[in-house]
Amino acid sequence: MKILVLNAGSSSCKYKLFDMTDQSVLCQGLVERIGDPATGNLTHKIAPDTDKEEKIVREKVYPTHNEAIRDVIDLITDSKKGVISDIKEIAVIGHRVLHGGAYLTAPVLVNDEIKKTIRATFPLGPLHNPANLTGIEVAEKLFPGVPNVAVFDTAFGMKMPKEAYTYALPQDICKELQIRRYGFHGTSHTYLVHRGAAYMHKDLKDFNCITLHLGNGSSLGCVKGGQCFDTSMGLTPLEGLIMGTRCGSIDPAIVPYLMQQKGMSTEEVDTLMNKKSGLLGLCGKTDLRDIHKLASENDENAKLAESMLIRSIKKTLGAFFFLLEGKVDALIFSAGIGENDNIVRAGVVAGLEGLGIKMDAKKNETRSGDERTISADDSRVAILVIPTNEELQIALTSQEVLNASKK
Ligand code: ADP
Repeated sequence: MKILVLNAGSSSCKYKLFDMTDQSVLCQGLVERIGDPATGNLTHKIAPDTDKEEKIVREKVYPTHNEAIRDVIDLITDSKKGVISDIKEIAVIGHRVLHGGAYLTAPVLVNDEIKKTIRATFPLGPLHNPANLTGIEVAEKLFPGVPNVAVFDTAFGMKMPKEAYTYALPQDICKELQIRRYGFHGTSHTYLVHRGAAYMHKDLKDFNCITLHLGNGSSLGCVKGGQCFDTSMGLTPLEGLIMGTRCGSIDPAIVPYLMQQKGMSTEEVDTLMNKKSGLLGLCGKTDLRDIHKLASENDENAKLAESMLIRSIKKTLGAFFFLLEGKVDALIFSAGIGENDNIVRAGVVAGLEGLGIKMDAKKNETRSGDERTISADDSRVAILVIPTNEELQIALTSQEVLNASKK
């Protein structure tokens, strides 16, 4: 079975075509600067990350996603360099959709009703959902007869208990506006939980873990019996940890204070908290490699940013560890920072030996792209590094939804 995964952004579109017989990637690519009247470009890789990898780059103007995806079809079905001969070979297209709102609680086969509901959630995901829906609509047009599945980044969090997802605000307003904790990076957390359980030879229903998706955007997942029990992000991806450019959780009263004292508009405060805060606001850099370098040169702001980031992760980890009453099988580190940054990983678990969490310093410092254990042999809680693979998870989920629809 061949499955195409599409992630349509406002000016970009990422795609990956899987052969599900062995989960190999036949091709993948990225179209950038869609809608830019001056220039755009498409980078297409055949058999990526293998010794047969081949790269094709097209530079041209892509006025809309329609022209971009048309070119993608052109490349994947090309008579010489194509990886399939007809788009009908694609069994299903899986789309990443950021926000499902309160009503789209699980991945679903797209129909007119679903599209209407996605449109109704635009206010909850104003930057992503319109583009995600455009991707679906263009795919419906350009791949006639191929079913589309919407995979929501919020779906993982929809299994949380009520006391985890409810905000202590007047409940009539919450209901009216679909205000609740949703959580994001759901596709990544789902992948990590499944891989973690398989790695530890545990039944998913008996598996408790804390997933640490630490990238430019970061969130922690608290997982009980294989399902989301709590998560650090909220109504939007702004809540929770300190991130690259997001402030994470702050006293909400800072918002009206800023608006009153600086005369800032809602958009300005939103931009300040989402784009100018976090590591960037603390030390002027977002990439931890730069921050570690500055910190090693004794830059005070970088040192503060480093220790605040670690503290913010540790604090949430502690909360989730307590929610699980210490019955934790594994801590699973993932994404750009989680997979690569041994300084952050070491800092987060430092001093937790008494709780049964003990790192093997050497294993932690060894670089690898593989799934691996970095805890000491006598650590009660396993510490794992699992490279995330959101596209593969979308493909797997889409396959499941398609198969279920045929029953
Ligand atoms: P996104 O949330 O945009 O998908 P990523 O998961 O790619 O982000 O994570 C990006 C962050 O990961 C970078 O800002 C950087 O801090 C960190 N990172 C990536 N590679 C490394 C590395 N080799 N060593 C340390 N940190 C890294």
